[in-house]
Amino acid sequence: MSDSRNTPSTLEVALGSRSYPIHIGPGLLGDPQWLSPHLAGRQVMVVTNETVAPLYLARLRQGLGDDLEVRELVLPDGEATKALASVERIWDALLAAGFNRRCTLIALGGGVIGDMVGFAAACYQRGVAFVQVPTTLLAQVDSSVGGKTGVNHPRGKNMIGAFWQPRAVLVDTDTLATLPPRELSAGLAEVVKYGLIRDADFLAWLEAEMPALRGLDAAALTRAIERSCSLKAEIVAEDETEQGVRALLNLGHTFGHAIEAHQGYGNWLHGEAVGTGMLMAAELSARLGWLSDAEVARTRAIIAAAGLPLAAPASMGVEDFLAIMRLDKKNLDSRLRLILLRTLGEACIHDATPTETLTALLEAFPR
Ligand code: NAD
Ligand code: MG
Repeated sequence: MSDSRNTPSTLEVALGSRSYPIHIGPGLLGDPQWLSPHLAGRQVMVVTNETVAPLYLARLRQGLGDDLEVRELVLPDGEATKALASVERIWDALLAAGFNRRCTLIALGGGVIGDMVGFAAACYQRGVAFVQVPTTLLAQVDSSVGGKTGVNHPRGKNMIGAFWQPRAVLVDTDTLATLPPRELSAGLAEVVKYGLIRDADFLAWLEAEMPALRGLDAAALTRAIERSCSLKAEIVAEDETEQGVRALLNLGHTFGHAIEAHQGYGNWLHGEAVGTGMLMAAELSARLGWLSDAEVARTRAIIAAAGLPLAAPASMGVEDFLAIMRLDKKNLDSRLRLILLRTLGEACIHDATPTETLTALLEAFPR
């Protein structure tokens, strides 16, 4: 009787009256029971990109059911699209269609589409409903959950944005079948991150299941996405606007952003930079006396097993790292604020790393 294709797992992000479900499992896209309950009214605009549209737009439309006024907007692929000009295109299309405050935006795609559509929804007529339908692993375990929306500015990534929570997140694990393996590994970096910062049992499970995950085993993927989303949902419920614990989600990100910024965004995928950055954070934690050598070796092994790089770019010297890291938006006042590991499964915010220790790590870390 039990058909696993129709029984996805459902989690809730607990934010009082703005709480919302995350449905996770295979076969969700074409099935109206998952999308329809979250539409604010009859007016629906699906926003996606040129890569994802031919793969999944028709299936999503099936899942919308009948009796709706549906518009589609297909934007170019790429991080460069995550800009105010694209948001204006979305607003123009909404106004041209005569969409009112009870319309719903659906973001079908990776984190670029999700962040941008969320921001368009946050501002259109002072805020309308939106549903996240993430199709990359990174978006499924990270960007679609938590309500951070926004676009890039020529002077900085994610510099313009708002907190705006979706009505629901629909994760159809079947969409990962078409994802390039490099993008899958990049998403796995964020999955490993949740284990490292908050859940040692999950980390051990990931060590065992990494081959299954990279082989797109549906049950393993569902479990990994579910645990990742539930850890992120817990953290977001505790600290929606990043005054405290939410910062732990940035493990590996200060080092990672330095790599991305130095190499030019896009040459290293965000998840790749975060993978290397987490190893740097683990090695720094060992230098501070918190992690054992064996724990650092486990961290290195799982990052390697996820298919992520273990060395920083050859062209990056110590000063390159330091200069970029000092500009990081996570720094408060002038102190360098890093997320480090007390042990595997427990992260902390640390703003007192001696400069000599950081410099020694940056000198010794492989290129
Ligand atoms: P992306 O959206 O650029 O997607 C990566 C590539 O995969 C793109 O070329 C896309 O077209 C393609 N793609 C998407 N789904 C596919 C599928 N099912 N099959 C084949 N190809 C597919 O990148 P991403 O890694 O998903 O997201 C990165 C963005 O997310 C960045 O802009 C980052 O700032 C943002 N982000 C936001 C948060 C947040 O909390 N809001 C968190 C993490 C990252
Ligand atoms: Mg990240």
